[in-house]
Amino acid sequence: MLMSRDGLELLKPYSVEEASWPVKLDANERPTDLPPAVKARVMEELTALPLNRYPEISAQSLKTAIAGGFGLTAANVLIGNGSSEILESLCYAFGGAGRSIVYPTPSFSMYRVYATLADSQPVPVALNEDYTLDSDRLLAAAIKAAASVILLCNPNNPTGLVMPPEQIEYIVANTESLVVVDEAYYEFYGKTSVALLSKYSNLAIARTFSKAYGLAATRAGYLLASEAIVRTVGKVLLPYSVNALTLTVAEIVYNMRSEFAAGLEDNSRERDRLMAALSAVDGLVVYPSQTNFLLVKSEQAATLAARLSAHGIGVRDFSAAPGLTGCIRITIGTPAENNAVLEVVTA
Ligand code: PMP
Repeated sequence: MLMSRDGLELLKPYSVEEASWPVKLDANERPTDLPPAVKARVMEELTALPLNRYPEISAQSLKTAIAGGFGLTAANVLIGNGSSEILESLCYAFGGAGRSIVYPTPSFSMYRVYATLADSQPVPVALNEDYTLDSDRLLAAAIKAAASVILLCNPNNPTGLVMPPEQIEYIVANTESLVVVDEAYYEFYGKTSVALLSKYSNLAIARTFSKAYGLAATRAGYLLASEAIVRTVGKVLLPYSVNALTLTVAEIVYNMRSEFAAGLEDNSRERDRLMAALSAVDGLVVYPSQTNFLLVKSEQAATLAARLSAHGIGVRDFSAAPGLTGCIRITIGTPAENNAVLEVVTA
């Protein structure tokens, strides 16, 4: 009989519903393709890209572009296939057998999977009832578990709540664990922990091109950290792990990132509008969000998700997930898509 690695039989494969909804608001993607000027540049450069050669092994060109944006050097940057690969690699590099990885819950569901794949003990720490984090409770849990890694998602998915940079600093300053701040939704919030990198050697920051920069299809993310952390994490990545098409597209998008400002403004205007309209509906609680999605609580959550789906609108139904009873997550779409949501909800 074939025997998989210990613990693997307990892991469920990541699953999302792959329905073909005309209105897709389930995965926190940018609601439209790249801004036309960026898309045109991408197509031009991809046409000229020789496909017979391996990618640049060090991804130096993209690293240098990103480092420049932060006043860092390329040695402080690592590129991954989405921030997923960065987060998983951090767990591989700093986790391992007999170690534990602490993270608040509810948060990004993959943290438990990354910890388990790294043969580490996943240690979830419950958020408060209002989904804020008790830093001291988290730190106490990290000490008790002798955690080698603490994963923090800021802003947090799927709650949408944020921790101010001072709260992150309090945690980083009061632990010896490696603190990883997953800033997948940073661009919608505007506050980052990057400035703390020069002060603390136990901090790493993960970013993605999948959300505000609309590159979910290409899979690109990056790590910002000390040279020592970057070197260590680099050891667990395969050579040429990020393909040349992704590197090319991500570099164009990064260099043209000012083109995305209008999309961010659209998102925040539409988020506020949707938030106000949904909050006015009897029986709905909408959590404050600094992201491109809203977490909505209702006693009829599962029915609501099913009704939206029947109208061709896909949302993420968390109503049966631990700590998220009665919650669905709705990605902010285009104005027309958001109107379609409101029509169903208020019908
Ligand atoms: N972190 C968080 C909090 C996320 O929500 C996601 C995507 N759902 C990721 C990381 C991974 O994103 P990607 O691999 O596309 O960069």
